[in-house]
Amino acid sequence: MKRKSRRCVLPVLALCATVAATGAAGYTLNYAVPSSGGCPVATRFSTATPIPRQWSASLSSSPQTIFTVATPGTASQISEIQQTILDAYSVWTGVSGTMVNATTFPGALGALGQTSTQDACANDQGSNLTGEDTICFNQSSAAFTPGVLAFTRVFAATAPGQTIGSTTSSFSGQILEADILFRNDGQVTFATPGALAANPGSYDLESILTHELGHFFGLEHSPIWSAVMTPFAPPPGTYWGPRPTATTPDAPLSDDDRTGLRVLYPDPNDTTDVGVITGRVVPANPLALAGLPATAAGEYVTGIFGANVVAVDADTGQVVAGALAGWSCASASSGPVFDGTYTIERLPLGRTYNLYIEPLDGGFTPSDIGGNGLNLCSTSNATPCSAPAVNTDFVPHVRPSG
Ligand SMILES: [Zn+2]
Repeated sequence: MKRKSRRCVLPVLALCATVAATGAAGYTLNYAVPSSGGCPVATRFSTATPIPRQWSASLSSSPQTIFTVATPGTASQISEIQQTILDAYSVWTGVSGTMVNATTFPGALGALGQTSTQDACANDQGSNLTGEDTICFNQSSAAFTPGVLAFTRVFAATAPGQTIGSTTSSFSGQILEADILFRNDGQVTFATPGALAANPGSYDLESILTHELGHFFGLEHSPIWSAVMTPFAPPPGTYWGPRPTATTPDAPLSDDDRTGLRVLYPDPNDTTDVGVITGRVVPANPLALAGLPATAAGEYVTGIFGANVVAVDADTGQVVAGALAGWSCASASSGPVFDGTYTIERLPLGRTYNLYIEPLDGGFTPSDIGGNGLNLCSTSNATPCSAPAVNTDFVPHVRPSG
């Protein structure tokens, strides 16, 4: 995550591949293209076994980058930081209707381990892989370009049978390791919630970590301003409020964040958040999109790619979820077709929704939410394609009916 108006850097590495651009669609998910070809799949953990997690208690003391109430170098400081980490996890595991909900599925995540190894996260070369999902506060990285506060490296399988550490993928898109690195060179500092008021020039550790944990679970940046997954950090000395509490651990999240997590980890017993709105964003003049074929099979771009479609509760005016329109697949074995399709899933039943469609030409740009292409295509498989640029040059009109 970056400070001010810069976007967060989120390199996603496919196994046996170089750093790839991130994907986005919907409350915005990351995508991986199966090595066998076919439809892009959202990246997510398997919930068949507890998700392993740990953090490195190696902290930078010169310069000090994390401020706590407790004295640096003491066990109390370690406890204070660990509690902040646990609270940030609880923000996401507090979301109802998901397979990672701490109440419904208390074993979804493993116990939070601790290591003294300084560089316990995967490094810039994509090595140091252990299968442990690790948070590092004292590991340097070339990815800390100016303005980057923290970032998440996600390693997702592109086929079943790929292994990192003791985990072997059972499906394409399975996250095998996700590491979160915080900047440690003193250019920015962080503070636990208890220490934030006394360190107003520091970023709120809990808020930044909550955002990165959204990437950890598989979310990309959201163009919804109220979302924790917006690419812009809260200014120093402030936090995404309200703070999590024991009774409402997911309080900092927006409904857009919650919906995204439900899409990735749907609880099969959730009978409420099962609404779907789908449609297409198409140009009034189809010839406006005439261009190069997007797939090797010669299919052309037939819809608007990258329009932001937002579902708003008609009674409350609250944004419930957003999605990026642009593509669909005829089947799991088919590559994407760029026909303007959008799908907003896991919407609560029993409500009325208004849809808004807008180009990404305002506060958010395509690069804020993953960039052009959105990681939907690969040229090295059986169904190669080339995603069109995000289309920001349109004025939305709604066609009644149909
Ligand atoms: Zn981010």
